[in-house]
Amino acid sequence: MLPPDRLSKIKIFPIQPTRTISCCMSILLLKVISAIIIVFNTVIMAWRFSGSSQHELVENLINAGIIRKEKVVKALKEVDRKHYCPRDPYVDSPQYIGYGATISAPSIHAAAMEHLYDYLNRDNSKILDVGCGSGYLSVVMSRFNPSAKVYGIDCIPQLVDLANNNVKQYDNHLLETKRLQFKIGDGWNGFESDGPFDAIHVGAAANKIPLSLINQLKVNGRMLIPIGGEGEMQKLMLVDKIKDGITEDCVRIQRLMNVYYVPLVKKTD
Ligand code: SAH
Repeated sequence: MLPPDRLSKIKIFPIQPTRTISCCMSILLLKVISAIIIVFNTVIMAWRFSGSSQHELVENLINAGIIRKEKVVKALKEVDRKHYCPRDPYVDSPQYIGYGATISAPSIHAAAMEHLYDYLNRDNSKILDVGCGSGYLSVVMSRFNPSAKVYGIDCIPQLVDLANNNVKQYDNHLLETKRLQFKIGDGWNGFESDGPFDAIHVGAAANKIPLSLINQLKVNGRMLIPIGGEGEMQKLMLVDKIKDGITEDCVRIQRLMNVYYVPLVKKTD
């Protein structure tokens, strides 16, 4: 115990309510600023790359330097967003498709194709599209490489039906030949029965890289995944598997850009 003369010298700092309030205000202000930046970016991007047809949209994305490779141009021009996107298909912004999901912006789909190019392009490549939603990107990937097998999974059964129905109308041969399959699945668990995969695309943001997905990536395979919390500025990341295993030293991670995706939900959320 301290002697009374020393005790009297100890200053007790009361909790100051004004400090707590100003701290909360700062956090709130930061969230508001980050929301404004997200909205501002979305509006600017939508204005910059949008077109009046699939052809014009893709041409604008080429001119902006987002699409560089001819094979990506071909695949994106072949799959018209108007069949997958209920509103404003050629505007470069995400659009609501129901059940809390959006079809991603065309520039995001294009960037995904470019970053995964070498992995999608392999002979008999196995590709997993987590959070397939409308099915659009899965179809583009399947058309991009006729020797590939593409598996689109989503945790919402109605969206798996939506993807299947969209593709049945416009690209049914992909389903009939089983080059493309949509299934109900949880992205946190991946799709082990059909792995390992050369390329994994994750269309929803996770707060950390799901270990199952690292496990189901082939050595020398690549995953593209947005990391970050809901409503926050998230980072799009490239995860390259450099050796077998699921620990951090088995992958090399590159951060690409700030993005805003819907969350990769956990069953317990
Ligand atoms: N890439 C799609 C949809 C993106 S929206 C497109 O462009 O059309 C994100 C999708 O991820 C939604 O369809 C949502 O249902 C799905 N999703 C969210 N959490 C998931 C999880 N844990 N497992 C599988 N899919 C999930």
